[in-house]
Amino acid sequence: MSGERERLAKASRIVVKVGTSTITYKNGQLNLNRLEKLVRELSDLKNSGHQVILVTSGAVGAGMARLGYSERPKDVAEKQALAAVGQGILLRIYERLFDEYGQTVAQVLLTKENSVHHNLYANSRRTLGRLLELGVVPIINENDAVSADELKIGDNDNLSAMVATLVEADLLIILSDIDGLYTANPSSDPTATLIHRVEEITPDIERIAGGAGSSLGTGGMMTKIDAAKIAMSAGVAMVIAKGEVDGVLHSVVEGEEIGTLFAPKEARLKLRKRWIAFGRRLDGAITVDDGCAEALRVHGKSLLAAGVKSVEGSFKTGATVRIIDLLGREIARGIVRYDSETIGAIAGLSSSEIAERIPDSDGQPVVHRDDMVIIA
Ligand code: ADP
Repeated sequence: MSGERERLAKASRIVVKVGTSTITYKNGQLNLNRLEKLVRELSDLKNSGHQVILVTSGAVGAGMARLGYSERPKDVAEKQALAAVGQGILLRIYERLFDEYGQTVAQVLLTKENSVHHNLYANSRRTLGRLLELGVVPIINENDAVSADELKIGDNDNLSAMVATLVEADLLIILSDIDGLYTANPSSDPTATLIHRVEEITPDIERIAGGAGSSLGTGGMMTKIDAAKIAMSAGVAMVIAKGEVDGVLHSVVEGEEIGTLFAPKEARLKLRKRWIAFGRRLDGAITVDDGCAEALRVHGKSLLAAGVKSVEGSFKTGATVRIIDLLGREIARGIVRYDSETIGAIAGLSSSEIAERIPDSDGQPVVHRDDMVIIA
């Protein structure tokens, strides 16, 4: 057993995400047996001293079952209606099952808004923190019934990573219909083997996760890799494991080598930096030259106009943007001190040239190092 795995036992705050494919049968009906086991394991984790948060899919599935659908509808309004019917059913089941083990649950429905606006971010953080202090198990889902597309987080893998970041969890466990990340999609490549540990999300990892998921699940592996990026950068360990394995949560927390572990980056980002990196809407992108990329990444410098090659998108001062190198790789995210038009106009100029053109610029960089988070 590696020391890294052993440390998982010390995780005091654990977010567990279950996918649709884990808690529903192929025909869309809820798998009550699986739900019961899951709740038992979560209650046990809690009894042994961990704080737990559950992020659960399955509302649409529960709605489908109740209204006699055999296939997931394509129409968005219809899906949202099914989610509205199913969310209540799902929560009632969880509430009853958790009650059997003496646990109190709370339903928290989030949208992207909760991570984009700083006051809502702080507010959701406080509420979740208070629920945990009260010994309650928060059960979280995206507010599917009313979320408009642009407000959507889109999938519960990303939602669970956002929640883990929000509550500063130590561990995020994603339960799926597969026991981890394989070297290729095992449903199409029988020679694929399980990867036990991922240190960094390389283009190779992104490529092997590219295949589509099951018909019921929505994200496949790709969204789990996106979630891993968020979790790892925020210093949260993440494990993907198979939901149907008996005692799976216990095994992960005991440090057994099951599933795929995505190792957390050692240094935790400060809260504000985390908010910059993952909590805000991205309004555009700035491409920088190689020298500038190195200055940011290696030397922790501010982004100066001299290194800017091009600007994408139309945004105001104070927007959050991606910072991209010449190969198109995202290297950082940050808050801009000029609007997109001005950045376009001063791209490539030295500080003295900028001072001439924009007398009130005060020698401001395009993105100050304090407002920037290095991603890769
Ligand atoms: P969930 O509903 O649990 O979120 P999904 O069905 O959406 O799960 O995603 C898991 C599926 O992703 C696997 O069953 C598998 O078919 C697919 N997949 C694609 N590429 C890979 C890979 N490299 N390793 C493992 N699974 C993969």
